[in-house]
Amino acid sequence: MSTSSTAVAWRRDLHAHPEVGFTEFRTASRVAGRLADLGWQVRTGDEALDPGARLGVPDDDVLAAAFAAATGDGSWAGDDRFLAPMRGGRTAVVATLDSGRPGRRVALRADTDALPIVESAESGHPPVAAGFRSTREGVMHACGHDGHVGMAVELAERLTADPPDGRVTIVLEPAEEGGRGAAAMVAAGVVDDVDVLLAAHLGIGLRSGSVAAAVDGLLANAKLRVTFHGRAAHAAMAPHEGRSALLAAAAATLAVHTMPPVPGHETRVAVGALHGGTVSNIVPDRATVLLETRADAGAVNEQIEARVRTMLEGAAATYGCRVEIEQIGTVPTATGDPAASEVVAEAARSTGLDVVVPTADLGVASDDATALMCRVQSRGGVATYLAIGSDLAGAHHTPGFDIDEAVLGPGVDLLERAVRAAVTS
Ligand SMILES: [Zn+2]
Ligand SMILES: [Zn+2]
Repeated sequence: MSTSSTAVAWRRDLHAHPEVGFTEFRTASRVAGRLADLGWQVRTGDEALDPGARLGVPDDDVLAAAFAAATGDGSWAGDDRFLAPMRGGRTAVVATLDSGRPGRRVALRADTDALPIVESAESGHPPVAAGFRSTREGVMHACGHDGHVGMAVELAERLTADPPDGRVTIVLEPAEEGGRGAAAMVAAGVVDDVDVLLAAHLGIGLRSGSVAAAVDGLLANAKLRVTFHGRAAHAAMAPHEGRSALLAAAAATLAVHTMPPVPGHETRVAVGALHGGTVSNIVPDRATVLLETRADAGAVNEQIEARVRTMLEGAAATYGCRVEIEQIGTVPTATGDPAASEVVAEAARSTGLDVVVPTADLGVASDDATALMCRVQSRGGVATYLAIGSDLAGAHHTPGFDIDEAVLGPGVDLLERAVRAAVTS
């Protein structure tokens, strides 16, 4: 595989410099800079996202440290021209190429964030072997979003060289992981005048050389940060005076995992983190739990979330504690429109890719591109979520994850054909 293509070069650079949700200062500013240099009209910061509609924003010190790294020198430096409006986690970018000629207004979503995962250091892991392993320990592009951005930049270069009719917008979404970024971009109105929205994802169970023109099984989800407040006491001298937040959290964890399935629906409930207490001889007065619910229908997910909240309240009451529940992410379901997926299928066929019908096992994932899709559809546009197949070195969201770079070139071919067809559709 040649490494000379724009998509591969950008992908490798971003892979080595991963940034978690709402800290994508280097990534977002560099892409904004490249697209502006190509002549695209670029919006960032509050013009691209409503900061009040963000969910799960990192703490101020985390945001400040990431911003400082991007405003410094060296390989972590971002593009100075675009950093200032992004301060504080306003890391969305919307770039538009308007031909001024009649045609549809087409948008492509690419997500920019990485995950808090320690990347494999094994010599057989391709990014290690090829020298582009993450240089920020504990942060990793383990979902393929580096590839999404790389393809978007190469697509922009090709469209600039031969601009299509109508208008093309690239929507660079921060904090997709956890379902936190899209709603804030929707709230800023960035897709309100879009006629056709394409949201693409690499991998997700499809082999290299194949494409699913629509993936409709994406689950709705809700993510909750739960804090139990108890009362500290000496664990031996006065245990009866204590109220253990840790016991409440542990009981709640077990309880929510006993949630029965909902007949006829695909559902999930998972506690992914439980933290509490300090030492062995103090009744813990504080514990936190991070959990998520998912379902294949928004209403079912709301039911599950309501039952989880009841269980959390119940566990808190049992141990004499108080519970605070904060929603830190939410994602709706969405169904693609045949008018959009047909354009993608035709583009895939003319690129020489296999068009496959996604199997049900793709349906256990979520992507908050669905929030963008729902907005476009509610205003009369059409949308589809497509999957660009990639053989994977390891599963999504694991330390050994890696995409097959050979799919990036054909992926850009597919997206270019789809965009050029969509503007005249
Ligand atoms: Zn992911
Ligand atoms: Zn992803």
